[in-house]
Amino acid sequence: MILVLLGPPGAGKGTQAPRLCAEFILRQLSSGDVLRAEKRKGTPLGDQVAWFMVSGNLVPDAIVTEVMLAQLKDPAGRRGFLLDGFPRTATQAESLDKSLRSNGKRVNLVLSLQVADEEIVERITGRRICPTCDRVYHLRYHPPAKPDICDVDQTPLILRDDDTVAVVARRLATYHEMTKPLEMYYREQGVLVEVDAAQSPDEVFARMIEIVRGRWEGGS
Ligand code: ADP
Ligand code: AMP
Repeated sequence: MILVLLGPPGAGKGTQAPRLCAEFILRQLSSGDVLRAEKRKGTPLGDQVAWFMVSGNLVPDAIVTEVMLAQLKDPAGRRGFLLDGFPRTATQAESLDKSLRSNGKRVNLVLSLQVADEEIVERITGRRICPTCDRVYHLRYHPPAKPDICDVDQTPLILRDDDTVAVVARRLATYHEMTKPLEMYYREQGVLVEVDAAQSPDEVFARMIEIVRGRWEGGS
């Protein structure tokens, strides 16, 4: 099973990803988390991608694709993968398809999260993340039990350096220009399903479960 979460920044991909992975026994591969981990460790790759990320631009296709396809080799005992944030361009989608095809696999389902741009700004500026386990919180919509402390591992939460109003505008423009067209790409493959992500996290999750079960466990 290769499940892809598509959607603008702040749509709720990182919120739903761990829940879906637990439900369907998938390995979560979030490109943003992978790149942020490299930045935090100060690796050459981290240094290379830092400027693109903090300015709200996409990291070059060749870099992201190499990192993500390398991770795709190992399902770590899971039944498949959940890809969050990758692919984000037509070139990345084509490289992914090519790599999967060479192993007799394909993208089985793409859930495309739909949220209005105005709601996105509110979600992103209130977002806080755990730098240790990458759990996602929101000051209003999903506060941690103790203010600014991760529920899972007690690490102090942080505001991402790209979660500012100015950078969000850039990321949204990039999404509309480079990533939104992937809906058509996957629609033509017959694997795209749109999800109303303006609902509460629990409602969005319930709808996603229904879709995945219908598509995958229902055998279509
Ligand atoms: P993405 O991974 O798509 O960038 P996140 O999952 O990090 O988005 O969500 C962005 C912010 O919005 C987070 O602070 C999260 O807690 C909050 N959020 C996620 N889903 C919802 C929702 N359905 N309703 C309200 N807030 C949400
Ligand atoms: P995210 O955590 O998904 O919001 O991603 C944060 C940032 O990481 C993006 O704004 C990009 O700079 C970079 N990034 C993540 N995934 C990709 C990708 N698939 N292609 C290019 N850049 C990416």
